Amino acid sequence: MSTPQVYVVIDGHQQARDVDTDTTWGDVLGEVIPGLRGVAVARVDGELVDLDQPARAWARVEPVMISDPDGLRVLRHSCAHVMAQAVQDEFPEAKLGIGPPIENGFYYEFDVPEPFTPDDLARIEKRMGQILKQGQRFVRRVITEAEAREELADEPYKARLVGSEGGAEVMEVGGKELTVYDNVDLRSGERVWGDLCRGPHVPTTRLIPANAFRVMRSSAAYWLGNQANEQLQRIYGTAWPDKDGLRSYLTFLEEAAKRDHRRLGVDLDLFSFPDEIGSGLPVFHPKGGVIRRVMEDYSRAKHEAAGYEFVYSPHITKEHLFEVSGHLDWYADGMYPAMHIDEERDAEGNVRRAGADYYLKPMNCPFHNLIFRTRGRSYRELPLRMFEFGSVYRYEKSGVVHGLTRVRGMTQDDAHIYCTKEQMRDELASLLGFVLELLADFGLEDFYLELSSKNPDKFVGDDSLWEEATSTLAEVAEASGLTLVPDPGGAAFYGPKISVQARDAIGRTWQMSTIQLDFNLPQRFELEYQASDGTRQRPVMIHRALFGSVERFIGVLTEHYAGAFPPWLAPVQVVGIPVTERHVDYLDEVAARLRAAGVRVEVDSSDDRMQKKIRNAQRAKVPFMLIAGDDDMGAGAVSFRFRDGSQRNGVPIDEAVAEVTAAIAERRQV
Ligand SMILES: [Zn+2]
Ligand SMILES: [Zn+2]
Repeated sequence: MSTPQVYVVIDGHQQARDVDTDTTWGDVLGEVIPGLRGVAVARVDGELVDLDQPARAWARVEPVMISDPDGLRVLRHSCAHVMAQAVQDEFPEAKLGIGPPIENGFYYEFDVPEPFTPDDLARIEKRMGQILKQGQRFVRRVITEAEAREELADEPYKARLVGSEGGAEVMEVGGKELTVYDNVDLRSGERVWGDLCRGPHVPTTRLIPANAFRVMRSSAAYWLGNQANEQLQRIYGTAWPDKDGLRSYLTFLEEAAKRDHRRLGVDLDLFSFPDEIGSGLPVFHPKGGVIRRVMEDYSRAKHEAAGYEFVYSPHITKEHLFEVSGHLDWYADGMYPAMHIDEERDAEGNVRRAGADYYLKPMNCPFHNLIFRTRGRSYRELPLRMFEFGSVYRYEKSGVVHGLTRVRGMTQDDAHIYCTKEQMRDELASLLGFVLELLADFGLEDFYLELSSKNPDKFVGDDSLWEEATSTLAEVAEASGLTLVPDPGGAAFYGPKISVQARDAIGRTWQMSTIQLDFNLPQRFELEYQASDGTRQRPVMIHRALFGSVERFIGVLTEHYAGAFPPWLAPVQVVGIPVTERHVDYLDEVAARLRAAGVRVEVDSSDDRMQKKIRNAQRAKVPFMLIAGDDDMGAGAVSFRFRDGSQRNGVPIDEAVAEVTAAIAERRQV
């Protein structure tokens, strides 16, 4: 018999190594990577395994570095253990919840009598630094359920996970075996802490760089996300393979905070969310209203040019419509409850006339279908494209409502296209071109597409139609030259979908436009057209919203531009700044010229000094400042000052007007 071996795979190259009964994965990989530097765990036949586990003969093993996505998750989760240990060191009464890795970091939840204060978090972070330096080993130990219950007598939440609660959704349980990870002091060999967890973890806390982690913040959270459960305190942390990783992440967060549209909405006087109206229901102020009107005007003109017809529908409807559409079956959770009206009772309180339930609409499609159905349709009318700025209301849980990007009342730039199966391909291809052109005009130019295909367990319509529709979407997407990310099984039951994902100025991805094919609603509404051969046929329906919603789009643009909108969108495009009071009249004349050319211009004739006026205009992120003093006045010129502080002096008025109007017309950023 040959000596037992394992196959070590490094950068795609495979080599065989002998193994003994007491050889660990760490031993095997350590022969190839000196000191196991930066190795978080081993990937053994595709599965992540702790480095101190015994090597299994004939398996394929790869090192997983802390800089690899999987290794980084292990690093972050291991850091969550360190945080939990630090919390229990500092707050011995804290009971442990769950502690998974998340995007860019990790969290851990605790049941504590009082929420953590910033000082508490600083103490915890300091204690974590000490634990990292101690170099505690993470040691895996298999236990039975009975042992786990005994060992976790003081950890009620963890104990509840040992049964069915939580299932495979949490890090703690759900592996093949139930395991505890003991933290063992490297020198004394003494167990200093431990946690129920399915692992894996980094071999020692030394692998977590002490200069590349942070305790970020804490917030309240319900146990396992269920509002019926106990409220715990969740502490978020972040950890990176090195100091530079942490630094660039913190810079990114700072940049994101500066761009937070909720803050900019207040600073720039664009929109607000009055408590009196309710969560997720924004109002647009005059300045935000300008942005919104410009966007809507732009969109209307574009749609008109692309052959869309404009329709209007009410915000509420009797329930029957949403029974026909199926919304009350599969979307009721996302709808506001019914308004019961028109009921009449006699003096005794008996119902004399039954009332009716009305609903706020969560979507516009059923209304458009009714318009389609009001009369017979001929193939000659197809594709029929109905467009509406449709205001819809969706009941979002209060916890997920977020600024303009997740609201309860919104206006979609919604359209439904009714076409024949034969027209589907051309329609989709031109639609995708239309979307990308529109997004590019708003300065979003870095995209990829996601294609959501059929969930084999949940769909309506016949297979061949799905196949055709999905492959058509895929072809159209590929022809666009953009990266196409498959989302298998991600489609809604009624048809496949393409969504356009846009990256903003700091690399964040936002889902923007969606193009959705639908085989279900035409059937439910019994939509038909007369084909050229006289037969009755069912049209295909395409749902598409390009902004998504106007509100959300404004939120995304505000963050993308950090409030410094390009001139065509800027609420105020030009501010005239007189050097002294005697230059005001001159600038008023310049402003009149600009206004006549359709430019949104103001002259700051306040008592403030010139420098203060410049600062105010800068704070309002106005794209053009036109300054005029004696020299400018004498020469019939103005001086440009831009948002970056650069200046161009002595520009003749005609040229200045031409420059401003060209930037607006070209939708150029300045
Ligand atoms: Zn763990
Ligand atoms: Zn729709």
